[in-house]
Amino acid sequence: MEESLLAMYGGPKSKTIPFGTGQRFGDEELKELKEALEQNTLFYHYGQKVKTFLSRFNDLYGVRYSVAASSGTAAIHIALGAAGISVGDEVITSPITDQGTVVGILYQNAIPVFADLDPHTYNMDPASIESRITARTKAIIAVHLAGNPCEMDAIMAIARKHGLKVIEDCAQSYMCRYKGRLAGTIGDYGCFSTNDFKHISTGDGGIVTVNSGNEADYHTVHAFADKNYRRLGLEVIRDLHGLAPNYRMTELQGAVGIAQLRKLPAICESRSRHGQRLTEAIEGLRGIAAPRVHLGNESSYWFYMLRVDEGSLGAPRELFCQALAAEGIPNVPGYIPEVVYMQPMFQRREAYAGSNFPFDLTGVTYESGICPNAEEILRTAVRISINEFYTDQDIDEVGSAIRKVANHFHNRQT
Ligand SMILES: *Cc1c(COP(=O)(O)O)cnc(C)c1O
Repeated sequence: MEESLLAMYGGPKSKTIPFGTGQRFGDEELKELKEALEQNTLFYHYGQKVKTFLSRFNDLYGVRYSVAASSGTAAIHIALGAAGISVGDEVITSPITDQGTVVGILYQNAIPVFADLDPHTYNMDPASIESRITARTKAIIAVHLAGNPCEMDAIMAIARKHGLKVIEDCAQSYMCRYKGRLAGTIGDYGCFSTNDFKHISTGDGGIVTVNSGNEADYHTVHAFADKNYRRLGLEVIRDLHGLAPNYRMTELQGAVGIAQLRKLPAICESRSRHGQRLTEAIEGLRGIAAPRVHLGNESSYWFYMLRVDEGSLGAPRELFCQALAAEGIPNVPGYIPEVVYMQPMFQRREAYAGSNFPFDLTGVTYESGICPNAEEILRTAVRISINEFYTDQDIDEVGSAIRKVANHFHNRQT
């Protein structure tokens, strides 16, 4: 292959036109918002917008029940509360995720336990999950990272064997499919986020699916999102039998959500196509490992994260990232700066100021090295944006930039 000079050294940039952009919100959202205000109430239980949002979501996902929340973090906390997670329980989850995954665990005074990841899907390795199970383990939060589904058959089998609840964190994974089934409908609960950075946005917001389809379970989830008010029966019951937060969604968010939901399938199809196209463009390139989506699964690529093998590439990751950026392809080394358990809260074992509770219930410590694959992923990953507004040409130029930069370092090596 003919080598052209890297843009970093004065050569022509691979990216010749600006990336495609677009408006996420428009007249559809405005119309729904206007109707919400005209209801003369913005309370989800009196108005129709949150209800309509959820019923459309249920239709799209093929589930009977779901509950709205104020955020994705809230959605996960609600699922944990409804699952009965309590003081001193252990919940197994992924060390590469948004911190919203672990917040609810600690609010329940339960203890996060981290399983290691598959080096290529960046999702939890079922064997590692099983190795972390103790008598205290009560649930698994399966994080489908960046649109790529976890190995749900294996995870569900482990959960059944040990009597654990499974909560799917789908905040980054709308319309992603595991062996044809939608992620978020397989475990006991599926949790979604509609914060402004996700596939669809209501500013902030979340959804919990109740996959048992059981009405009592639905009522429990519903009450846990609403201070334990039980509003679904004939009369409202306010008896307080346990602690639950107020994580309600307002009609304003529900209204925007209705309009956003109509756009969701096209958004996910576009991202899915772009991600696959980029993988095809860079597959087999020495020193570059594309993210792996198992055969039969579908990713909706919230972002695109590849890994570099500095030895076979012939350059350090930082230089690769700089060269790619100079070609006109914005990128970031890694995803979160460090695995979640290296954060001060876990290192100091201090979730509540001045206390080591609940960590001191088990004496758990979070040493560097407990999830070696996860740590190695963050040391070698390069994250590239995927957006539904990108064009095929955008993706082709990203692909040729990666090939150009990689080939440059290969040739320099030999
Ligand atoms: C965004 C996100 C959350 C939290 O959602 P918020 O709406 O920001 O609270 C949880 N888990 C993952 C994997 C996320 O990406």
